[in-house]
Amino acid sequence: MTIQLKLVQLRKKIRVNKKKVTDVIIADHSAEICIICGSQEQLTKEHVIPQWVYNRNTKRTFKTTTNRISQTYNKTTLPACKDCNSNLLGYLERHLKHEFERIDVSHQDFSQETLELIILWLETLEYKFQVLDLRRNLNKVKGAEYIPFIGKMPIAMFQGPMDTSPAKVFTNLRSALQVLSVKSKMDRLNSLCIIHTTNKDFHFFHSTNNFIFIELAEFGVAFFYFYKQRFDEYSAASESAMKIVQKHYSGTDT
Ligand SMILES: [Zn+2]
Repeated sequence: MTIQLKLVQLRKKIRVNKKKVTDVIIADHSAEICIICGSQEQLTKEHVIPQWVYNRNTKRTFKTTTNRISQTYNKTTLPACKDCNSNLLGYLERHLKHEFERIDVSHQDFSQETLELIILWLETLEYKFQVLDLRRNLNKVKGAEYIPFIGKMPIAMFQGPMDTSPAKVFTNLRSALQVLSVKSKMDRLNSLCIIHTTNKDFHFFHSTNNFIFIELAEFGVAFFYFYKQRFDEYSAASESAMKIVQKHYSGTDT
């Protein structure tokens, strides 16, 4: 079985089930269904960030952009059926991990097929974070005192500089699942920056509907991907990405 045949299965499953899946998740944010195909059979815990990415360090935590509360990657999971989790998404991850091991980005470029698969993989992370944001209630808003009424609202309603309406959040969720069923990522290639890195540690940050940065120190490579923004030239994307990375790690972005 090749990766492309696996992805045909994944896209078909998403196309057939996407409306049902997002309807159920919107009606009940913590519904116990597979977040990809909606199945209630053989549910497993799908890690939002796969364990191999952060070297299985179970104590490693990240902060959500809105909640400012640390949580461990290890415990951040969503329900997915065995077929979607291990067979389809798992196959994509194993395939990419193999490519990351095989290719030294300081000397060689990824093939276009691999670049498109990296985009798909980063899109699956975005979708998972959107579902996660809906499932997590907001406990504390931007350092303010706990407000019981707001505490019951999902984090997703407080994305970005402007608070987001429920309708917008649900539209974003539907489109985040929809893009996973789009085969060609050709028109998105300029929005993916491949960065050669010599850092020794895993780094990650993500802004919903906006961008993701993920550094795989083990493989000497980092990815910065703009989910929405488009660029005529790769160099413009790369410049924007580096500015955001520098701002993030210089501590001015609080
Ligand atoms: Zn499934």
